[in-house]
Amino acid sequence: MSGRMVTKALLEVSIEGLGRYHKTSIFPCGIFQYMKGVNDKKGTPNYDLFRLALKSTAKRIYPNYANVDWSGNAGYDRNDPRTYFSTMGCRTANGMDINGFGQLKDGRGNICPVTIIMPTLAMQSKEKVEKKASKEDRVYSNEEVIEEFMKLLDKKIAEARDMLLERFEHICSQSPNSAKFMWENNTMAGYVPEEGIRSALKHGTIVIGQLGLAETLQILIQKDHTTEEGMDLAKVIEGLFKKRCAEFKEEYKLNFGVYYTPAENLCYTAMKKFKNKYGVIENVSDRDYFTNSIHVPVWHDVDPFEKIDIESQLTSFSNAGCITYVELPSTAINNIDAVETIVNYAMEKDIPYFALNFPLDTCNKCHAQGDFNGKCPECGSEDIDELRRVTGR
Ligand SMILES: [Zn+2]
Repeated sequence: MSGRMVTKALLEVSIEGLGRYHKTSIFPCGIFQYMKGVNDKKGTPNYDLFRLALKSTAKRIYPNYANVDWSGNAGYDRNDPRTYFSTMGCRTANGMDINGFGQLKDGRGNICPVTIIMPTLAMQSKEKVEKKASKEDRVYSNEEVIEEFMKLLDKKIAEARDMLLERFEHICSQSPNSAKFMWENNTMAGYVPEEGIRSALKHGTIVIGQLGLAETLQILIQKDHTTEEGMDLAKVIEGLFKKRCAEFKEEYKLNFGVYYTPAENLCYTAMKKFKNKYGVIENVSDRDYFTNSIHVPVWHDVDPFEKIDIESQLTSFSNAGCITYVELPSTAINNIDAVETIVNYAMEKDIPYFALNFPLDTCNKCHAQGDFNGKCPECGSEDIDELRRVTGR
């Protein structure tokens, strides 16, 4: 009962907005835990709270939706909410702990990530195959490039593992005095003073991230995962990440995981470097940024349901965090039923973490809200706050 009251209060504040001008609250990021039989449909005990969450999302973009019944969180304890699927706002998530905490989420976190920029590996593979073929005076096939790419990717995944192990050990070598409050108050679970901070950090995750699946596929086979052929290859690539991380987890008894990196700055800097080296390639480097992780490129004209259909085929490969967004026109505001249909669809498709995006402008003069195109339709002011979510935060 008190949980219901807290949830209701948080959502009402989110809808109301912050301060006298009712600004949209960005931090802390609101996340609604969607659970079958609890709040998912009419007649379930907390359905009213789901509706309130949808109302908030329709107005404020937040909350996002965490899928408690996600298949990737199997093994959680229905009687212990601390094991329910949840994320750290942007997308990071804790999978099954190999060191005894199971699906516990509280008191654990992502210790360090490394991100692999896949399009560069694809270009290196292509160049190598090209060179060899021209020496032998013959044409080469996509299959040869793919084979070379998979070998190189495997090598880079192993290098990422080594980097993570080195960083992990370095972090573990810190004195508990460098974050005394944290250790004194058990903000990280499992701390045993005699064993040092490793006793707690070993329950966290160390993750291998990735950037630019869509562009990688374009280089390898000249189409991306919005096509069947592209999706087949995408599954092979993601399967390698998943397999290797599972092996490392067993071998080192540390929670290696596959992470669909947000890469908000990296997707620009990586593209800049790529362009300097390889120039502008159609559908690969003819934009200012690489596509995040496994996302469908934003310039593809797919509706929310198609986007969910495509990305839901890949989210099960990631156990350390991923997010699926759909973009809506601003007319979604006030259409709570439409938002509900989309959220339900994503949850049904086993999307672990789901968020909606639409243009949200606020006039700084009269505080009207909507999609303004630079000028307030109410008072004509051009002093507009434009909220456009790029990352998951
Ligand atoms: Zn105005």
